[in-house]
Amino acid sequence: MTLHNRIALVTGCTQGIGQAIALKLAREGADIVINALRDDDRAEATREQIRALGRRCASAIGDVSQPAVIRSALERAVDELGPVDILVNNAGIERRAALLDVTEEDYDRVMAVNLKGPLFLCQTFARLCRRAQRTGAIINISSVHEELPFPNFTPYCTSKGGLKMLMRNLAIELAPLGITVNNIAPGAIETPINARLLSNPRLMAPLLARIPLNRLGEPGDVAGVAAFLAADGARYITGTTIVVDGGLLWSYDEQ
Ligand code: NAP
Repeated sequence: MTLHNRIALVTGCTQGIGQAIALKLAREGADIVINALRDDDRAEATREQIRALGRRCASAIGDVSQPAVIRSALERAVDELGPVDILVNNAGIERRAALLDVTEEDYDRVMAVNLKGPLFLCQTFARLCRRAQRTGAIINISSVHEELPFPNFTPYCTSKGGLKMLMRNLAIELAPLGITVNNIAPGAIETPINARLLSNPRLMAPLLARIPLNRLGEPGDVAGVAAFLAADGARYITGTTIVVDGGLLWSYDEQ
């Protein structure tokens, strides 16, 4: 187990990539603070799975776009479990709309969840690390769309592009505290966010044709990389993005 005696906060972890990361970190020996929008059945099921792995689990429930709410929830979780060593900024949303139709509300919500939330959680995490005099690892789940255009998803791409610069800046700024900051950029992963795509063979076929490994990713493909970045083996890696996309981003072919 590479994360024995470590404590990790994973945001948006009651399904999809976040849940796979929380369970993988727990399997590697970490205790987990789960974050979810609501303390619903999925949150309880996630807590049960973590405890079934023999790990401790606390909750910091709330909307990541509300820094004050998350800060106090996290402080209560730290009182319960101890200082957090690993922050995984996973919670994210997308809204489909062409530029001609996109609303101010769409833009504000996507940016608040995908960019403002991670920024202020990084701030809270760094302050907690400094107070506890401990080093740490921040992992942001960004997207291939921190690089790759995605028409009709401009706020989403803007938020993930912003997350790339947030990561690069904080890698420098937080290095004196011994905190590493990296992004994981998934391609197309089989999770509920892609329900529309997964249920439509007409949409799936052209996408698969663009992925050299010829399959969508599984949440576990991303979770394995998160566990690597959180562990001591990655302690000299900071300020970079690891792409987990089956080759999608740089796929090119010419007949
Ligand atoms: P998902 O299945 O929709 O899960 C997202 C999770 O985040 C859900 O549990 C959701 O809770 C939670 N969440 C949403 N807004 C939140 C908020 N304001 N505060 C706290 N939690 C919140 O999505 P996913 O596919 O696992 O995506 C996870 C991350 O990977 C996202 O950042 C996404 O952009 C990124 N990503 C995914 C893919 C992909 O193909 N799946 C590709 C690239 C990047 P509710 O269900 O209660 O709303």
